[in-house]
Order: sequence, then structure tokens, then C-alpha cells
Amino acid sequence: MKVEIISCLQDNYSYLIIDETNNLACIVDPSEASPVIDYLKNKNINLKYILNTHHHFDHIGGNKELKKKYNSIVVGFKHDSERIPEIDICLEDNEIWKSDNFVAKIIHVPGHTKGHICFHFYNDKLLFTGDTLFSLGCGRIFEGTYEQMFSSLNKIKAMPLDTQIYCGHEYTLNNSKFCIKHDSENLNLKKKIQNIQIKLSNSLPTIPSTLKDELDCNIFLRAKDVKTFSKLRDLKDNF
Ligand code: ZN
Ligand code: FE
Repeated sequence: MKVEIISCLQDNYSYLIIDETNNLACIVDPSEASPVIDYLKNKNINLKYILNTHHHFDHIGGNKELKKKYNSIVVGFKHDSERIPEIDICLEDNEIWKSDNFVAKIIHVPGHTKGHICFHFYNDKLLFTGDTLFSLGCGRIFEGTYEQMFSSLNKIKAMPLDTQIYCGHEYTLNNSKFCIKHDSENLNLKKKIQNIQIKLSNSLPTIPSTLKDELDCNIFLRAKDVKTFSKLRDLKDNF
């Protein structure tokens, strides 16, 4: 599988997962249709699936137009089927979605929203985390509780270290400033920040990250208990 990063809106990322042997693709969280259409133009790729991590407009905004144009199948969480526009396939927590050569496990990660899921393409070591885990950060808690978000992040922490993390936004630089403020002696973090700055100065995405990097550097994953985590989350909300 090849992953193509599509920049959308201000700072969103949508991801095309391309099966090059069959020229089939999934798009994860199409914020808007036009950048995806632009990418696919003149390419012999069939956009067969639209995968949504959660219902926020900047993750589903392109569903309708893309479905209409490419006849795509919309895939999302069963218990959010009322809020995912045009949903066709409703999946449950821990279910394994297999279609064509695509294989992903659905991980329910409530906190940012009640029905947020991650798509874990475990054979390819790819994790699409939407607005739950960001590089060096995590999503705001809008609908869930601190406990839910903390345990959702714990599910991700248990995955293989070489899992590639593809998140919903380019928030990494700002997140890094918060991390270093509260974890100023962390050498891994300092190294990661240098890396981030090089990428951004070359107009490249800081994504994907790896789970290993996040475990070493992301202060929200390093929080040892829910109390510490909650305090950090509150501080970040006002950062
Ligand atoms: Zn969101
Ligand atoms: Fe978002």
C-alpha cells in the first residue's frame, strides 16, 4: 500500500491509501473534495472507499461530492451512522474490515467525539488516528471524558512501535512547543523538534510520525495517569 498525503483546508490532511496492483484507493477523512479530485485527475485510480474517523465537518466535508463522482462506498462507525454523511458500511469496535486488498481493524477511541474510530491497517503498520492522536499532541475532549480519552490513547500505546501514525491535522510545530515547555530535558523530543523544523522549512508534512517517536516525545502519551493527563489537557486548551 502506498499512502499519499493530500493537504486540505487550513491544516487538515486527508490520506489516499493506494493499492497499486489493482489501482484502487481509499481516502481517509476527505475534508473537501477538490484536492482529492485534483490528485486523482489523469491517474488511473478508482476511489473505491471513503473512510471517516469521525463526523466533524473537516473530516467528512468531501464525502458527498466524492461519492457522487466516483461511486465510492462510505465506511464509518456503526454508532455514528446518523452523523457520517452518506454512510454505506457501518463497522463496530474491534471489527476487521476487509475489502479488495484493504484490511483494517476498527478501534473505537472515544474522547474527542463519542464515536471516533481509528483505522489500523495492521498488515501495513499504518494507523489513521483522526483527531485522537496528533504528532506530539492529542485531540481536544469535546464529547467524552478525560478517562475515555486517556484509555483511548492507551489502546494506541499498545500497538507495535513501528506503527506509522497518520493524523488529521498539521499541528506538530505548535504541539512541540507545548511538549518542550513541560518536558524541557527530553533529548528525544529535542531531536524530534529539529527534524520537524527541517521538514517544515522544506514545505514538507511532519506526518507520518511513528508510535515510537510519539511514546518518546508526546507528553500526552508520557502522562503516567489520568490525573496528570487531565491537567496537561487543560493546560493545552489554554496554550
Ligand atoms: Zn475533530
Ligand atoms: Fe479535525
